[in-house]
Amino acid sequence: MPELPEVETTRRGLLPHVAGQTIAEIRVFRRDLRQKVPNELEAALKGNRILDVRRRAKYLLFDLENDDVLLVHLGMSGSLTIHSNPTDLRRVHEHVWLHLADGSRLVFHDPRRFGLVLLFPRAEEEKHPLLAHLGPEPLSDSFSPSYLQTALNRRKSAVKLALMDQELVVGVGNIYASESLYLAGISPKMPANHAARHAKALVPAIRQVLEEAIDSGGSTLRDYVRSSGEAGYFQHRFQVYGQAGKPCQRCSQPIERIVQGARATFFCTGCQIEKNKPKRSAK
Ligand SMILES: [Zn+2]
Repeated sequence: MPELPEVETTRRGLLPHVAGQTIAEIRVFRRDLRQKVPNELEAALKGNRILDVRRRAKYLLFDLENDDVLLVHLGMSGSLTIHSNPTDLRRVHEHVWLHLADGSRLVFHDPRRFGLVLLFPRAEEEKHPLLAHLGPEPLSDSFSPSYLQTALNRRKSAVKLALMDQELVVGVGNIYASESLYLAGISPKMPANHAARHAKALVPAIRQVLEEAIDSGGSTLRDYVRSSGEAGYFQHRFQVYGQAGKPCQRCSQPIERIVQGARATFFCTGCQIEKNKPKRSAK
């Protein structure tokens, strides 16, 4: 499933190819995505110009010249790619084509059809039901240690589940929650209100894990703009995620896998503390 780094990589890959371009023609092949693709999409987009592409959580937001916003979510299996020399051949699971003025085609492909292609006036963005309740962006200044400490203090669930709550912070999905807690040396099982005092370690750990994933996606940007249009989600090397049974790179203990909230969690019992141990007195 595309997580924040994949969506941000998609945004950065698409931006230079679509910003400033007029949408010449729209083809919608299937409207029955997670929500229906609006019937007015074609009329609203035709002749409209894309000014910018932003990201909020895992939503891509295309700012249009007429002050509408085109929202795209990649769902479980979606991709958004630029085809520089498109043919008339439609691959299976290609649901929306946007033909741009330079002859290229922006293609939304989604086998499981859990993605979204929606349109709304920019003035309604703050109140939009998908966007209104989202917490701060993890890479923004508003996601500060003091914010995280306060937010975790209010919760008693396991810290890993709290980090995956989109109202607390957006875009820290299952993989990056495990990775961040490993980097910060905190057990995923620690109650959030106990983990609150480690917010100073957690905030930079979350940022580092996401930024490294975005950077490693950068090397595959070419895949995003290939004329073949393959999505090419990068295979990032993870420290603990998917590494059950392998030795921890820090302490050599085997990485453990548990299930929290019906999702797999990976961690090291050797170097991720479960409780707030009393400080050792200095000798
Ligand atoms: Zn370890």
